[in-house]
Amino acid sequence: MEASDAAIIGAGPSGLYLARELSRIMNVVVFEEDKELGLPLHCTGLVNADSLKVLSISPPIINSYRYVRVTDLEGNSITFDFKRNAVAMLNRPGLENYLADELGSASLALGKRVLDVQGNTVRTKTGETTYDLVIIAEGSSISLTKNLIPWKPTYVYGVQTDAKSYASNALMPRDINEIVVVFDRRLSNHFFAWIVPRDNHELRIGIADDANTWVKFVELLRITGVEHYNPFGGKVIISGSPDNVVTGSVAVIGDAAGFVKPTTGGGIIMGMLSAKLLAESIYSVVREGLRISDALSVYNMVFRKFIKNKVRALGGASSILHLMVNSSLGEVMHHMNTVNVEIYDYDNHIDAVLRAAMRRPLAFAKAMFSLIGELSLVEPNRINELIRELLG
Ligand SMILES: Cc1cc2nc3c(=O)[nH]c(=O)nc-3n(C[C@H](O)[C@H](O)[C@H](O)COP(=O)(O)OP(=O)(O)OC[C@H]3O[C@@H](n4cnc5c(N)ncnc54)[C@H](O)[C@@H]3O)c2cc1C
Repeated sequence: MEASDAAIIGAGPSGLYLARELSRIMNVVVFEEDKELGLPLHCTGLVNADSLKVLSISPPIINSYRYVRVTDLEGNSITFDFKRNAVAMLNRPGLENYLADELGSASLALGKRVLDVQGNTVRTKTGETTYDLVIIAEGSSISLTKNLIPWKPTYVYGVQTDAKSYASNALMPRDINEIVVVFDRRLSNHFFAWIVPRDNHELRIGIADDANTWVKFVELLRITGVEHYNPFGGKVIISGSPDNVVTGSVAVIGDAAGFVKPTTGGGIIMGMLSAKLLAESIYSVVREGLRISDALSVYNMVFRKFIKNKVRALGGASSILHLMVNSSLGEVMHHMNTVNVEIYDYDNHIDAVLRAAMRRPLAFAKAMFSLIGELSLVEPNRINELIRELLG
């Protein structure tokens, strides 16, 4: 196959990871509306450290964590012990800059907003260009995606701050390697709050919910005694993905396609995995001498057959969890106060809660049990196998 051209819209982790992969076989340009990569900040940056190895990347890490303490405001808590520092806080502009340094022959058009995508033609303020392939990686705004693919996702809004000055109280992390997750409906009805040490002196504290997040954020700061702040945040899609992630010559990846774990809002790794899945689909069809449009069909089919329902199942698990928060999770936590549980995958909060909950009470465990097998959305080591299976 001759070298063809691809336009990627959005230089977040998903778009940049894809550019890095595709630049080996295609001419790639990445459009980014902001003038600087990774800014303005919106994300906490927490990922499962092992996932970075799977993706063969080593971006800058701010801190790493062994413990996650899930607590309510009364101090009833469950501490999850990973037995090693398995969770990492990435430096978000650092991740984007790291990926940009690995772009190879791909070019980056900073400060260039894409206004419109029609077929495989991309329009910016300075003109229109047609590509063999257009990939939308615009993040959770979905301004371009919503004109191309029918989908009305639901969101929570997250607000957070880095803080140097705070009161020492029971809610605060007990150590530099402990993350605190606060599940309490007096703070957040449908999501949770988080307190994450950046180092010995600074922490990142935030909250997400579907309404009035700012008011709840101010309350969180009051409770924790955080004094100075410079808040940042954004939208987190929690309702899963659209039915299709491809239309014509356009594919959608990352947040823009709902590759986000509805339980945690985690989309950094999921977004890069969606990019890896698309890149592997393209390599596979190129090897077979097929057309790019066939690669897009493979990407969409793998998504529909192996991923979409898992995102839905996780969305269901998330709803159940938050229902429990509204009714009896406080009681569950009270029963399990001081129980320590060993877990291995930070991305699976629900799995962790389940492991704890399975000790008692039974009702909680039963409600969640059927979902336990559905928790890993994209199994990175199986991507090639899944594609082969589809290509027959
Ligand atoms: C408060 C909060 C906390 C979070 N915490 C975590 C966390 O701890 N762990 C985790 O895994 N995930 C977290 N997330 C989610 C995570 O930030 C996203 O899943 C991740 O950034 C998705 O990457 P992406 O590349 O798909 O999109 P983005 O990172 O949003 O990148 C999209 C890029 O496209 C650009 N763009 C958009 N439209 C256009 C256009 N028309 N033309 C040109 N450029 C355009 C944007 O400027 C942006 O740079 C959090 C999100 C929020 C809001």
